[in-house]
Amino acid sequence: MAERNPVKQGKPAKRGKPAKPRQAARPDAAPAQQAGKTAAAGSVAAGIRRKSDSKPTSPSKPKIQPIAKLKAGPKAGLKPAPRVSAAAKRPAAAGRRAALAPERVAELLRRLHAEYGDARCALDHSSAWELLVATILSAQCTDARVNQVTPRLFAEYPTPQAMAAAPIEALESLIRTTGFYHNKAKSIQGAGRVISRDFGGRVPQTMEELLTVPGAARKTANVVLGVAFGKAEGVVVDTHVFRIARRLGLARGETPQKVEQELMKVIPREHWIGFSHELIHHGRAVCVARRPRCADCLLEKLCSAPDKSWQSGAMDPAGSE
Ligand code: SF4
Repeated sequence: MAERNPVKQGKPAKRGKPAKPRQAARPDAAPAQQAGKTAAAGSVAAGIRRKSDSKPTSPSKPKIQPIAKLKAGPKAGLKPAPRVSAAAKRPAAAGRRAALAPERVAELLRRLHAEYGDARCALDHSSAWELLVATILSAQCTDARVNQVTPRLFAEYPTPQAMAAAPIEALESLIRTTGFYHNKAKSIQGAGRVISRDFGGRVPQTMEELLTVPGAARKTANVVLGVAFGKAEGVVVDTHVFRIARRLGLARGETPQKVEQELMKVIPREHWIGFSHELIHHGRAVCVARRPRCADCLLEKLCSAPDKSWQSGAMDPAGSE
């Protein structure tokens, strides 16, 4: 009689109780019985094989996902972006509100003014026209370098008409050390031409008109309007203002234009002109681009810039000592 096959019956053998053979094997019959067993086992195995052969199951049949599930599922190799819960957004929004709180902004302005209240435009000039030309030349150049070339430039070509009529090579030669002198020479010559032709030789006093002058974008126009005419049409955003406004959390924009728009919302208009000069001086003296001197900074208690070089303790939105 063939042994009951636990595999076939699907019953696992009990632990610690090996299954007893129903009939003792005779020693003389061992080879035959062994052979028979082998044959029986073989036949059982073969039977299983035959059974599976004759009635094939389909173990590898792929499961069909519902279409909606497939559409919603992640693409192979890509992790879905983690969802940011409303609760997680709350601290960031609260931090943003605190950074722009009127009392904090007022304290920043007060401290900057106390320290740099006498800050003035560092470009030497004696008229709006000279300031316009000097500001055009200051692009990608230090004010000190511009101040080295402008005395001779203004001595040889003192008016917009004279600048418009100047040979381009002569202008290039005079301003060469300020860099980008091909483009800058074209700009100041073009500025002379437009101001002579369209504005009677006088520098215009509106943002709209100034933006028609070659070489004058918003930053240049804001400098001329603020410094030469005392008009606050916008905030000057140069490299220092751009950097420090973002460090102080007053703006997050990725371009000077966006930062200016943000500053115009958060800084009271009467501070627009002075704020720029004060921040520029602070950027040159303390809040330098690489490794700012935070230990010496009068705004340190109010600042939570990620690249601070020194931290006195917990931030105090009111900046109290
Ligand atoms: S604390 Fe540091 S990063 Fe902040 S404004 Fe001052 S110098 Fe700049």
